[in-house]
Amino acid sequence: MSEQLMTAAVYQGKGNIVLEKRPVPRLLHPQDAIIKVTLTTICSSDIHIKHGAVPKAVPGTILGHEFVGIVEKIGAGVKGVRPGDRVAVNVETFCGECYFCKRGYVNNCTDEHGGWALGCRIDGGQSEYVRIPFADNGLTKIPDLVTDEAALFTGDLLSTGYWGAALAEIKPADTVAVLGAGPTGLCTLMCARLYGPARVIAVDVSDERLELAKARGLADVTLNPLSRNVEQEILRLTDGRGADAVLEAAGGRDTFQTAWKIARPNAVVCVVAMYGEAQTLPLPDMYGKNLVFKTGGVDASCCGQIMELIRVGRLDTGCLITHRTTLDHIMEAYDVFENKKDHVIKYAIKVE
Ligand SMILES: [Zn+2]
Ligand SMILES: [Zn+2]
Repeated sequence: MSEQLMTAAVYQGKGNIVLEKRPVPRLLHPQDAIIKVTLTTICSSDIHIKHGAVPKAVPGTILGHEFVGIVEKIGAGVKGVRPGDRVAVNVETFCGECYFCKRGYVNNCTDEHGGWALGCRIDGGQSEYVRIPFADNGLTKIPDLVTDEAALFTGDLLSTGYWGAALAEIKPADTVAVLGAGPTGLCTLMCARLYGPARVIAVDVSDERLELAKARGLADVTLNPLSRNVEQEILRLTDGRGADAVLEAAGGRDTFQTAWKIARPNAVVCVVAMYGEAQTLPLPDMYGKNLVFKTGGVDASCCGQIMELIRVGRLDTGCLITHRTTLDHIMEAYDVFENKKDHVIKYAIKVE
């Protein structure tokens, strides 16, 4: 019998992503599940992989680590899901049993398939089918009333925002500053709001994205560094103190410097962004500021909580989906997304 083939977007080495036919994956381990992908998307990490900025990415791997689908098959050891279940897939696969997993630090799971492996070191979900190791840990059932689009960002973008907001130790009277109002920044703003801070400030170089953040109630104040002095404005808004918590979700050339400068003494500065280059920590300049830095990447271990917040309407990423297409047209979507054409924020890519 000939092998069944499917369409998949494959990283073929630096600068090269190709849509090609690949064999449909099979169960390899009792804890695996095979998922029929129904909706997938492109993440800025995929663009980082394309440009060779993710050293651990393996050429020949099917891309995609943010998607939802239907359980097609399960291994004998899978207990949490059944064939036919609609599920959101976690960006991280993790064993649940190692030193780090037991402490919730699933990004550093020591299993060979642990951490961010999907769409990076093992085949991901910009394809018709995908094999998910440790399925009981990496799949979250989607409630009937939650659409695929509403659940699409559970495992990566929302997990990132949720994790960053938790790390930032936000308190009710705080002023929180979020750098970046792109997909990660918008989700970070959304999750910062869950803690009920007194004021949320969004900073971005795009007025359009800032307007969206304000219109959706994700930010109270918006600042564009191209037209305002962000550091001075934040000091002015906080009686000269600075922001109580800073979340850096921009990953721009000088945004790390802005992040620590706008933080008040003793603040937490949480670096959510993934940088393409090394950053400088000018310790003499920040001496006495007594800052706490926390760095990425996400421990995506709260998908159940995120799904519940989606179900009750407290997390709503509908405003992020600006473009829709199908898997056959994903290469066009890559071009639009990478080059920020046509006011794109995120794609919802249907897999038929
Ligand atoms: Zn991602
Ligand atoms: Zn582990």
